[in-house]
Amino acid sequence: MTLAACAAALLTVALPTTAFAQRGPQPVVLVRAGNLFDSEAGRMVGPRDILIRGDRVAEVGQGLTAPEGAMVVDLSQCSVIPGLIDAHTHLLLEQRSGEGLSNVAARDHGVQGDVYRALTGAQRARGYLEAGFTTVRDLGNSGRFLDLQLERGINDGLVPGPRIYGSGPGLAPAGGQLEPQPVDHHDLIEGEYRIINGADDARAAVRDAVARGADVIKMFPEATPQRTRLSVEEMAAIVTEAKRLGVPVAAHATSDAAIREAVEAGVNSIEHGYEISDDTLRLMARKGVWLVPTDPSLEMALEFTRSWPRQPPREEVDRHLQAGRDRLMRAHRLGVRIALGSDLYFPYAPGRGAGSRGTMDGYVEAGLTPTQALQSATWEAGRLLGDDGLGVLRPRSWADLVAVQGDPTAGLSPLRAPRLVMKGGRIEAGSASACAS
Ligand SMILES: [Zn+2]
Repeated sequence: MTLAACAAALLTVALPTTAFAQRGPQPVVLVRAGNLFDSEAGRMVGPRDILIRGDRVAEVGQGLTAPEGAMVVDLSQCSVIPGLIDAHTHLLLEQRSGEGLSNVAARDHGVQGDVYRALTGAQRARGYLEAGFTTVRDLGNSGRFLDLQLERGINDGLVPGPRIYGSGPGLAPAGGQLEPQPVDHHDLIEGEYRIINGADDARAAVRDAVARGADVIKMFPEATPQRTRLSVEEMAAIVTEAKRLGVPVAAHATSDAAIREAVEAGVNSIEHGYEISDDTLRLMARKGVWLVPTDPSLEMALEFTRSWPRQPPREEVDRHLQAGRDRLMRAHRLGVRIALGSDLYFPYAPGRGAGSRGTMDGYVEAGLTPTQALQSATWEAGRLLGDDGLGVLRPRSWADLVAVQGDPTAGLSPLRAPRLVMKGGRIEAGSASACAS
């Protein structure tokens, strides 16, 4: 059986929604939204009608007349926000508690294999969509371009899922992020990372990723637990080549030194950035570099630690979270743009999409307003991904939207139960009747 056939077979059994069945030509759709979130301005603007032709928004206005034959979706009892975006996911990775990444790679490559791995990715993809995340940026740890294969399967309508902006294997210094090991029996490192050796090789790696369809380049200036680092020349070569080919660069960096080198090299976003200094934050603000703070909420942190052999005291969890919150708010106050990224790659019972939503809660716990957290997952993430049609609902944008009950700018709890999720003009989860008062 081909990979695609396997995936389709699984989903025929598992998929409960009616929405996915409705492929075929798309009718013109008129959505009547009770209250629309303007993601750029950061406010609810009241009732609006959204006319959708194909997979794009054609018009947004008040009191629009439904064209002949149009399907009317009555969301007048709901608030409508642009489809949410998680700018840092790993659809093809799950690391169990206490497990090293070498073990995960051995399981993925040696025991389970690509087909099984792709099926788990497809299942997670559906979870994102049902939680209202119509777009994710997948940043590596996805084998040899399985993220881009999953992206193609979703785009071709084989399985339901969000739009995927995939990087393929991250560009990393020797060893990747696997634990230092004297042997690499099954080419585990090269199975997960593209190891860079010199500036010419860095340029070649970027070209290879782009030729295979990468939408973004992921690079590892440093690759903890390895002590290896990319050189400044290698990073500059990666960024220059990616810019030449029109592809943004996301840098995984935690120490201030590595973050600074990556920012100076010209990357578009810093992922994590745990130990960043105010100086480096100022440089990021000046250069318009996004921070993607991959911090969980308290609820998520408590859920993660439940399976640990030793339960950390609550103060220890709080202390750990507080460090992340402090750096997020320092970044915000210094004018650094913030885009949502969950980086959730552990087992998490409520599901991956719930984890992305929970990460927004974490931003609010840090001190962002619910509106700013919503913007990080819509307007800001859309600009970071570089597509004018993402994270916003206006003429020519993608017809990706989520209906929720209540005002999400007053508090994010309405996002816990999205009533309807539409991607590219198609209802992918929920129904308009769920929005009735
Ligand atoms: Zn990550």
